[in-house]
Amino acid sequence: MALRLDGRQLAAELENRLRAVISDRLQRASRPPGLAVLRVGDDPASGVYVANKVKACARVGIHSLVEHLGSDTAPAELLATITALNKDPAVDGILLQLPLPAGLEEAPLLAAIDPAKDADGLHTLNLGRLLKGEPGPRSCTPAGVMALLARHGIDPAGRRAVVVGRSILVGQPMALMLQAADATVSVAHSRTRDLVELTREAEVLVVAAGRPRLVGAEHLRKGVVVVDVGIHRRPEGGLCGDVRFEEVEPIASAISPVPGGVGPMTVAMLLVNTVVAWCLRHGFAHGLEELASSSESFW
Ligand code: NAP
Repeated sequence: MALRLDGRQLAAELENRLRAVISDRLQRASRPPGLAVLRVGDDPASGVYVANKVKACARVGIHSLVEHLGSDTAPAELLATITALNKDPAVDGILLQLPLPAGLEEAPLLAAIDPAKDADGLHTLNLGRLLKGEPGPRSCTPAGVMALLARHGIDPAGRRAVVVGRSILVGQPMALMLQAADATVSVAHSRTRDLVELTREAEVLVVAAGRPRLVGAEHLRKGVVVVDVGIHRRPEGGLCGDVRFEEVEPIASAISPVPGGVGPMTVAMLLVNTVVAWCLRHGFAHGLEELASSSESFW
């Protein structure tokens, strides 16, 4: 049976550690860490994600503030909100919840976030820092995948890794992080001619295609490590990923479940980015490198 890459357990451990980091430093700081979440419109899935993030903040002692604006909000008003949060001394991290309602462009809004408060690691400057191997906040989902691999003793160094998906949110930073960890990385996308041929070479396979149950037994070599980033609501109820778990589990050496794999790690890494930003703002050492063997994932 494949090893389960249990994101819930690791996220809980990370939360314990963050709680301790905050309480150790709170007396010396003027205030607790602050995360501002900017939600635009009423996408129900975004509502659930924002609520989960707010609850996670409360568990570790981060003060969260949700700015919820209507889907008809003008870009200029959104920019003004971001500018005000950039200036707010009680805010260490700013998260723009994606996707935005149709008609609103992400790029100028993400670019307006102060890179030092970029809790999601999606600002162009921070993606550039990742590319160059410089410290900076890392995109939460791929950073969560790296922490999950490290926690389970899976070192990508020298291995053949395939990332399915090339989005700026997941696939691209994931490929850069695996490469920084010395894997030999290929990236597949919707125009890849023979996905099965490519993925069968993978010793580490990260699937972030946003296609329910795309990857199954035919895509795998025996003993592959499979990380399933996808998350979908099934019409019959419950959640599934981009991977056919029941087919993959007997072939893989390790697999992340959905739910309970990458999802909790994404939230945990958002908290990490916020607490690190708070520590940097106060000139405190954060000591969070110990939480993952790959310090590459942290500032
Ligand atoms: P996205 O922006 O839609 O990107 C999907 C990528 O997959 C694109 O690069 C696309 O190729 C590629 N792709 C689509 N169909 C493919 C196929 N049949 N074969 C190979 N590649 C294919 O999605 P995303 O934002 O990266 O998210 C991916 C999934 O992860 C979604 O299910 C999302 O809900 C989930 N997600 C989960 C978490 C979490 O915390 N668990 C966080 C973020 C996202 P092209 O570039 O050619 O279009």
